[in-house]
Amino acid sequence: MKYPYIAGSVDSIAGRYHDFMSLYSRQTLLLDADDTLWENNIYFERAIAAFISFLDHKTHSPAEVRQMLNQAEHESIAAMGYGLGSFTHSLITCYQRLSAREATATEEGKIRSFARSIADQEIELRPGVAELLPQLAERHRLILMTKGATQEQAEKLERSGLARYFSAIEIVPEKKEDVYREVVARHGCAFRSTWMIGNSPKSDINPALDAGLHAVFVVHKDTWVLEHAELSAVPAGQRLIEIDHFARLADYF
Ligand SMILES: [Mg+2]
Repeated sequence: MKYPYIAGSVDSIAGRYHDFMSLYSRQTLLLDADDTLWENNIYFERAIAAFISFLDHKTHSPAEVRQMLNQAEHESIAAMGYGLGSFTHSLITCYQRLSAREATATEEGKIRSFARSIADQEIELRPGVAELLPQLAERHRLILMTKGATQEQAEKLERSGLARYFSAIEIVPEKKEDVYREVVARHGCAFRSTWMIGNSPKSDINPALDAGLHAVFVVHKDTWVLEHAELSAVPAGQRLIEIDHFARLADYF
């Protein structure tokens, strides 16, 4: 068994004992979906690149346009939540602000086509998921824990073919500490044997640690900028494991 970098001040002997026990005792694994089980953000990045190229702004650099889009996304998410409808609204808002006028019907149609291209993507599983998820489902209780528009996320799960491995599906508007507490209470999860596994420090790791769970940070180099955050300090008695590949979960679970 290999031991990747383990964040926090966990005593290594206790940590290794815990690793050993994890292999042989049934745990509850809450699994993030977007950019943990399947690719997601890369399609948004492609759509944004196409949008910036279409805009071809004469005074604002692509980086400045991206900053303004990020701001529009913050506002859209606060008002409308996550999802393609919200993203489309952000693109149109950003376009109108930068051109200081309403978008014409033709321009709006073009902008909508960038967002629509995301929905047309095949589901592409992250490396190692197809092989390891069935094994994890045999040894542990798996709960899907994703945020976003309910129908969009449910359809992606359906198309992924992974639904059969989960004993429960949770699609929530936002992943915050109180949401994790509510979910683990409803499913009767014991804190000592429940882990949140995902690629987002902001949505998967920090609020799960705050809620008293263990966490596994599965690093994805193309994680959405709005999900970036410093990793929280690990509270005493909890664990945070950092891995760079989904398959490394086999070392622990
Ligand atoms: Mg994610």
